[in-house]
Amino acid sequence: MVSRVIPVEPFDLVIFGGTGDLARRKILPGLFRRYCSGQMPRDARVIGAARTDMDETGYREMVAEAIREFGGGRACDDGTLDEFLGQIHYVSIDARGDSGWAELQDLMKGTDRVEAYYFSVAPGLFGDLAERLQSWGMADASARIVVEKPFGRDLRTARDLNATLARYFHETQIYRIDHYLGKETVQNLMAVRFGNMLFEPLWNSQYVDHIQITVAETVGVGGRGDYYDKSGAMRDMVQNHLMQLLCLIAMEPPARFDPDAVRDEKLKVIRALDPVEPHHIVRGQYLAEPGNEAAQPDYRTAVDNPRSRTESFVALKTAISNWRWAGTPFYMRTGKRMVARSSEITVVFKDTPHSIFGEEAGRHRNVLSIRLQPNEGITLGVTIKEPGPGGMRLIDVPLDMTFADALGPEGADQVDAYERLIMDVIRGNQTLFMRGDEVEAAWSWTDPIIEGWEARNDVPKPYDSGSTGPDAADQLMRRDGREWRKVSP
Ligand code: NAD
Repeated sequence: MVSRVIPVEPFDLVIFGGTGDLARRKILPGLFRRYCSGQMPRDARVIGAARTDMDETGYREMVAEAIREFGGGRACDDGTLDEFLGQIHYVSIDARGDSGWAELQDLMKGTDRVEAYYFSVAPGLFGDLAERLQSWGMADASARIVVEKPFGRDLRTARDLNATLARYFHETQIYRIDHYLGKETVQNLMAVRFGNMLFEPLWNSQYVDHIQITVAETVGVGGRGDYYDKSGAMRDMVQNHLMQLLCLIAMEPPARFDPDAVRDEKLKVIRALDPVEPHHIVRGQYLAEPGNEAAQPDYRTAVDNPRSRTESFVALKTAISNWRWAGTPFYMRTGKRMVARSSEITVVFKDTPHSIFGEEAGRHRNVLSIRLQPNEGITLGVTIKEPGPGGMRLIDVPLDMTFADALGPEGADQVDAYERLIMDVIRGNQTLFMRGDEVEAAWSWTDPIIEGWEARNDVPKPYDSGSTGPDAADQLMRRDGREWRKVSP
C-alpha cells in the first residue's frame, strides 16, 4: 500500500538553531525525506540560522553529513541530495544581538510563500527570537513560529512565555511541538476510536477496568545531564508526552477533526484530572549497570550531582472526574535505563459479568494495546477456546495489527513525527500542536506534585538499570489487584 503524497505550498523555513543536535538529527533529515517523497516543493527554501560562524558552503556540507548519518529514505539518492542542498541557505545570526538579522530580512523580503520560523534553540531564547522577528518586520500575519519543548518549567514560566509570544504572534501562528503527537500510531489511536463503531460504546468506566501508559527508555541521561537534572521525568515526559497520550485516549469525540475542536476536548480532560495523592506516585533514580559502571554510571554520577533529588523514573495513578471515566484509574509510568525501549498505551477491559465456563476457565480480559514504539501497531487480545479435544479451556490470543505486517513495507515506511509535523506547519494545520491554554492546564496539574516533593524533601527510590523501575511502582498496581504490562522490546 503506497501512501499518497500531496505536495505542500512553496515555503521558506528558517531553522533557528540550524546547526544544533535536533536540527541535524531530526529536522534536516526529515525535510530531505519529504523532499525525496515529492512533498516538499522544488522551490521551497530552508534557511539555517545559528550563532555558529559558517558560510553557506560549510552549512551545506554539514547538512549533507547529517543526512548521511541520520538517514535519507528509500526514495532518496545522491543526485536528489545535491538538488536538495541547492535549496539550503545559511545565515549566521545572534538571537540576542543585531548581527545577521539584516541578512535574514533580505532573504525573506518580497516572497509570497508560506513563512515559518522554527525555534530549535534553548528556551531562554524563544522570547528574544519572537521580539527580533517583529522588530525586523518578519512577524507579519502570515508568519508561523514553531516552538520546541520544554514550554516553561512550571505554570508561571509557561504563562510568561505564552504572554511573551502573544505580544508578537497570534495563537493561530504559534505551533508548540510535542513530537509524540506526530507519531503515526498516535493519530491511529484517533482513527481507531472515532472511525469504528466497535470501540466507542465500550470506551468508558462501565467496561474499562483501567488504562495504563508506559514510556520506557533504555538510555540514561547521556550528555544532557545538566539540563535533565533541573527537569526530571515529571517535567520532561509526564507533563507533555504522557499527558498528551492520556488526553487522546480519554477525550470525548470532537465534533470535527479540526484544531480547536480536538484541543478543546483535550483541555477538558486535563481540567478533569484529579490531583495525585502522595501515596499514588513513585519516583526513582537509576543505579549503575553492574560491571559497566564507567560507561553506564548511576544517575547521580551521570548528572554530576551526588545529592540530586531529581527523578529519572516516575509512576503514578490518577483519575478523570467526569461521567465517562469516574471509577476507572489511569496509571502512567516513564523512566530511563529501563529494561527495554517501549511506548505503549493499554486499555484493559473488565471481566465478563459471569463466566459460563466455570472457575477452571480462569480469568480472561480483553486488552487493547496501542504500541507507539518500536513496531508501531495495535493489538486486541481476545479470548478463544484452546484448540484440541478434552474440554473447554480458554486462552488469550492477539488480534495483531502490526503496521509493518498489515500495510506492507511501503505503508510501514512511516513518516517520522518531526517531518509530519513540519509539513502540518506549512499546511497551517494546528491539530497536532498544543494550544497555550492546554500547556498551562497541564502545568497546573503537575506543579502541586513537584511542589509536594519539594515540601516533603522526597528522595527518589533507587532502581536497577535494566529493570522496570523501583519495586514500589509494582506495588502501586498490586495494591489495586492489577499488574503493569510487561515492558518488552
Ligand atoms: P543544541 O545545543 O544542540 O543547539 C543549539 C543551537 O542554537 C545551535 O545551532 C546554536 O548555534 C544555536 N544558538 C545558541 N545560542 C544562540 C544565539 N544566541 N543566537 C542564535 N543561535 C544560537 O540544542 P538542541 O539539542 O538542538 O535543542 C534545541 C531545542 O530543541 C531546545 O529547546 C531543546 O530543548 C529542544 N529539543 C531538543 C531535542 C533533541 O533531541 N536534541 C529533543 C526535544 C527538544
